[in-house]
Amino acid sequence: YFVSFEGGDGGGKTTQARLLAEWIGEVTGREVVVTREPGGTPLGAELRRAVLHGDDMDPRTEALLYAADRAHHVASLVRPALERGAVVITDRYIDSSVAYQAGGRELGEDEVESISRWAVEGLMPDVTVLLDVDSATSAARLTGEPDRLERAGEDFHRRTREAYLRRAAAEPGRWVVIDAAGTVEDVQAQIRVDLAARLDL
Ligand code: ATP
Ligand code: C5P
Ligand code: MG
Repeated sequence: YFVSFEGGDGGGKTTQARLLAEWIGEVTGREVVVTREPGGTPLGAELRRAVLHGDDMDPRTEALLYAADRAHHVASLVRPALERGAVVITDRYIDSSVAYQAGGRELGEDEVESISRWAVEGLMPDVTVLLDVDSATSAARLTGEPDRLERAGEDFHRRTREAYLRRAAAEPGRWVVIDAAGTVEDVQAQIRVDLAARLDL
């Protein structure tokens, strides 16, 4: 299986992906690979640094750097893992690009999606977990130096959240939408219930 976690900053993707991996490993006995975008590979780490902490850039450059990171991530890590029978859980994937670069940066949704799909030769997740987070919760959970995107402002983040919710509503068979405001334990419990209903776990 291929599972992605999506949602705004501070929703708990990294926390919940790790907890889900432990559980899937226990119940299936299969290898579980947890990875992330941008920056799931050594080349990806360089691209992540450039896009989040490098020079200011125009939205198309940004979109292509995320797509390049994703292409390399899938070709070198995700697809080989799936082919040897592992479960792969990724912290962000294609829907991040549509939400942030199309929704947030206001590039065309179809264009951003088609660049991404080309980059990964069409590989889509079996299930995508959206941790839907409001701006107050997101702000309360973010600590430390903000990266370039975290400084992007309220409207940017509102458009991003709306793009996620729109995509989830349009393709309910792939998405599980969870209110990220609950406790770590409550959110994880809900994820497990919803995934058990979708996947043969
Ligand atoms: P980002 O998009 O910035 O990577 P994220 O979605 O991966 O964020 P996490 O890094 O998992 O989110 O969580 C952000 C912070 O909030 C961490 O300090 C984490 O410990 C805390 N946190 C995560 N989930 C919850 C929760 N349900 N309740 C309270 N705090 C939480
Ligand atoms: O989830 P993570 O903290 O690793 O994401 C890094 C940053 O990249 C976040 O600020 C997120 O908003 C941004 N991002 C983005 N477009 C993507 C993926 C991530 O703007 N396609
Ligand atoms: Mg994270």
